[in-house]
Amino acid sequence: MADLMGTKDYENGLNFLEELTENGHRIQEQVLEEILLRNAGTEYLTRFLHGRTDKQLFKNNVPIVTYEDIKPYIDRIANGETSNILLADPISEFIQSSGTSGGQPKLIPMTAENFEKKTLELTLVDPVVKKYFDGLEKGKTMSLFFVKKGSETPSGLTVRTLSLCYFMSDSFKKSAPKICTSPIETILCLDHRQSMYCQLLTGLLQRDHVVSISSIFGSVLARSIKFLEDHWNELCSNIRTGCLSDWITDPGCRNAVSSILTRPNPELADTIEHICGNESWEGIIKKLWPAAKYINSVITGTMSLYISLLDFYGGGTPLVSPSYGSSESTFGINLNPLSNPYDVSYTFLPNMAYFEFLPVDKDGEEKARESNLDGVSSQRSLEMTNANGNVEPVDFANVELGQYYEVVVTTFTVGDVLKLTGFHNNSPQFQFVERRNTVLSIDMDKTSEADLLKAIGNAKRHLEPLGFVLMTFSSYAETSSIPGRYVLFWELKSNKIAALELRVVKVGTFDAVMDFYVSKGASINQYKTPSCIKSEEAVKVLNSGVLEKFFSPKTFF
Ligand code: AMP
Repeated sequence: MADLMGTKDYENGLNFLEELTENGHRIQEQVLEEILLRNAGTEYLTRFLHGRTDKQLFKNNVPIVTYEDIKPYIDRIANGETSNILLADPISEFIQSSGTSGGQPKLIPMTAENFEKKTLELTLVDPVVKKYFDGLEKGKTMSLFFVKKGSETPSGLTVRTLSLCYFMSDSFKKSAPKICTSPIETILCLDHRQSMYCQLLTGLLQRDHVVSISSIFGSVLARSIKFLEDHWNELCSNIRTGCLSDWITDPGCRNAVSSILTRPNPELADTIEHICGNESWEGIIKKLWPAAKYINSVITGTMSLYISLLDFYGGGTPLVSPSYGSSESTFGINLNPLSNPYDVSYTFLPNMAYFEFLPVDKDGEEKARESNLDGVSSQRSLEMTNANGNVEPVDFANVELGQYYEVVVTTFTVGDVLKLTGFHNNSPQFQFVERRNTVLSIDMDKTSEADLLKAIGNAKRHLEPLGFVLMTFSSYAETSSIPGRYVLFWELKSNKIAALELRVVKVGTFDAVMDFYVSKGASINQYKTPSCIKSEEAVKVLNSGVLEKFFSPKTFF
């Protein structure tokens, strides 16, 4: 396995990818063998394997669990017990995922090897993109990256988001000045307004060198462009005078920006003012950064909402959704960067983790979850359905085209539903369908996130010819009256609309929702506008921004 971990033995990343995907099944088996060899003696696995390491025993005895089942072990480690109760490799720190458990962030153990794999994913995305766009090495990426403050467990283990972990790594610090327009100090600044302002400023100052625009999720780029709409006058004034605004007080930001904002540049300020002063912001990204060949942001899943907005701002600049992963593991990368943003599939990388796939019956939705995850007692068998009628997970080699699956990372369900759309060599390619746990439900009705997104997509088709742009949305199930109904919150560029029931909120309301979640511990980088809001406080924030309400004559039964 070790020889497949590094790219150095391969001519380039593309060969390495071919090698990985061709040997997908074998590598998955190797990964499982290694996991068992190393970890069979942990307290957790001993419960099921009694120290043995054979794969069939694992498949028969080790249940598929959710975070809640592992949480007691995580809590014990966080409180000072040795980490080998759960995994043999030493835990270097905890990664804080965007999911929560009982209001607390989920903590995922990080090992040196996991971090190496995360870095490897980024190394592999690069050559794929370079195959499609020339001259990327001649310029820089205008990055919009943000971090959230880390913390510590009672036992002193660091807790950070994956992005903070990566942005603080030596490898990023070494490569960033060559590849990013944002100085590292502006990325690491914890005040998001100062950070965003400085990253936009340094991106504008180096606009001729920008060959791509990048944020982790599409929502962050959309938010940054909105911020630019509010601040371009001030940014131009800074560029014109060569002096940074006084409200940027973060010493790291001031220092770093001063090495790029070195002189008054009225010509550049005039050009930017001319572009931003145009009434329509259609194609603003292309106009401001004319050498940018593509936009690099995740725009699948809930982020698909931002595709039309980013298309509008991008003016034809291709949108590339590079990879699919989570705090638990990297899953796959997009080997076809130019594919239609609505049709992106990610090819799973077999060396990243041991993957299994729980078939999900899209019509019977909850079948797999209800039958398998009601406790830790469920047992596996080789067939898809075992003697008890439970749906069984399948492995890498046995996934079927067109089938929907919930992905499992070495017995841990991630909560994402995927659809198998094809294969690259022997590795499956999946489309992201939805987060499993975000559905609207009243009585017997269950509306999945995918259905909600589809409905919003249909509605947008009616809105756009009327000149309305849907900036972002959310929803909740309003059950205080009978029959209950679903309420949609829409932030539009205009406040005129007629629909079923809509509460139109003023511009900036969703920023306030994001601020609310950030104040509760979310990371701006990982933040995804929830397509369904469960928190009463967040609903209050939305309601405080309501401009108008519209009621449809129809009711739900
Ligand atoms: P976190 O653990 O906070 O990093 O969040 C991981 C989750 O973000 C995943 O389980 C997915 O639900 C979502 N996610 C990450 N990458 C993508 C992607 N490319 N497309 C859709 N959703 C994604």
